[in-house]
Amino acid sequence: MSPSPSCEAPTISGAPCRRQPVTLVDVPGHGPATLCGGHANHVRHRGAMPTTPPPPAAPHPPWSAEEDAILLAHPDEPAKAGAPQLGRSVYAVQQRRAKLRRTGRLGLPSGS
Ligand SMILES: [Zn+2]
Repeated sequence: MSPSPSCEAPTISGAPCRRQPVTLVDVPGHGPATLCGGHANHVRHRGAMPTTPPPPAAPHPPWSAEEDAILLAHPDEPAKAGAPQLGRSVYAVQQRRAKLRRTGRLGLPSGS
């Protein structure tokens, strides 16, 4: 039984990345390399063997006061309608509304 392969990309600290799962990527000037998703993306974009850790997934930007104001101004609008305007997912809008309600900044839905 062989251990599952892990990412062989060197990182800036010199330690191997070791992330899983991995794919076999043909790295220009290097040859096939077993790389994790983040490092495989690095190779696709940069066309070179990565030397840095893969960038972490972009975190959701925090809600701005302007975005909150839009939610507060349209408390009865379906999340589906507000989400595209805000560039957020319907789920994110629902979660944010729930939070605003918990903190007392948004009233309960009217007309139910
Ligand atoms: Zn990696």
